[in-house]
Amino acid sequence: MYSSTVTQFEEPPKKSNTEGSTAVSEPIPLPKEVPQGVQPLIWRNVVGIAILHVLAVHSFATNYKEAKFWTWIWSPMYGVMAGLGITAGAHRLWAHRSYSAKLPLRIFLAYLYCMAGQTCLYKWIRDHRTHHRFTETPADPHDASRGFFFSHVGWLMMKRHPAIKKYGTKVDMSDILADPVIQFADNPNDTFRYYTPIMLFLCFVLPTLVPVYCWNETWYISIHAVIIRYVWLLNATFLVNSFAHMWGNRPYNRLVKPTENPTVAFFTLGEGWHNYHHSFPWDYKAAELGAYSLNPTTAFIEVMSWFGLAYDLKTPKKEVIEKTCLKKGDGSNSLWGHHYNREEPLQKRH
Ligand SMILES: [Zn+2]
Ligand SMILES: [Zn+2]
Repeated sequence: MYSSTVTQFEEPPKKSNTEGSTAVSEPIPLPKEVPQGVQPLIWRNVVGIAILHVLAVHSFATNYKEAKFWTWIWSPMYGVMAGLGITAGAHRLWAHRSYSAKLPLRIFLAYLYCMAGQTCLYKWIRDHRTHHRFTETPADPHDASRGFFFSHVGWLMMKRHPAIKKYGTKVDMSDILADPVIQFADNPNDTFRYYTPIMLFLCFVLPTLVPVYCWNETWYISIHAVIIRYVWLLNATFLVNSFAHMWGNRPYNRLVKPTENPTVAFFTLGEGWHNYHHSFPWDYKAAELGAYSLNPTTAFIEVMSWFGLAYDLKTPKKEVIEKTCLKKGDGSNSLWGHHYNREEPLQKRH
């Protein structure tokens, strides 16, 4: 039974290697000597990202309606499975260590992650830990205080701020380097990495071939379905960095920008409860209250736990969450009905 593997903590788990695993995380001020520097545009990325988006929107608006029935099922399902590789794998398992997974599940999650076609696992995890450790400071790779466009996609179009290199490299990644699954995929100390060929095959080649050879989809539509799914998933991931750092309530900590955003939760398999997540990054649910429809990643982890593949699921005690809300929350109602009504004036920092 999965519940026997859930541990309720009164304080952040001490052994956690997770960056930002304080009970109430706030932006950690950087030392005074933040390196300054210009961030020139990387034109190759600007043009590449623009072309991808134009292609995806154009083909969705024109030819995609002629796709065969099974392509309509296959492509979104492929996107959901790839999304789980990011949410249950890269994010909740590796970046935050909010639960533990046996080797077969770790291999499966790495496989799903490769289907998404994002940056290699090691970099994704390091960037995310850096984001939590230095939220909305120059060392945050997608610093939301620089506006919607920058935090959504602009950060990928320019050279990184020197502070990211200076402070991001100090984030502890020893647990990640010790994982043989990550070592196989993309150990940065290796001269050859398997991640790129595996990712290219699983993200682009395989999902193009299957519709063509299994139900006679046209090459044209099959290729465009892959582009649409890829761009869709990229933007779903970006939503957490932009929308969920701007619009929504802050029931757990009104002093930080991350918000509770049900729309983002819908598009990201449950990663939109971001005010909670920045307060309790080590909770495997990444949300306080349960509704699998808006948090399928939690459902996935619990099913895996039921099969004995996931264990040591971490979550805070209810009283700890309530204390946090009373102390720091904005008194707003979260999606499922929150419990408090603060009357005292709020002192927002942002
Ligand atoms: Zn965030
Ligand atoms: Zn996180």
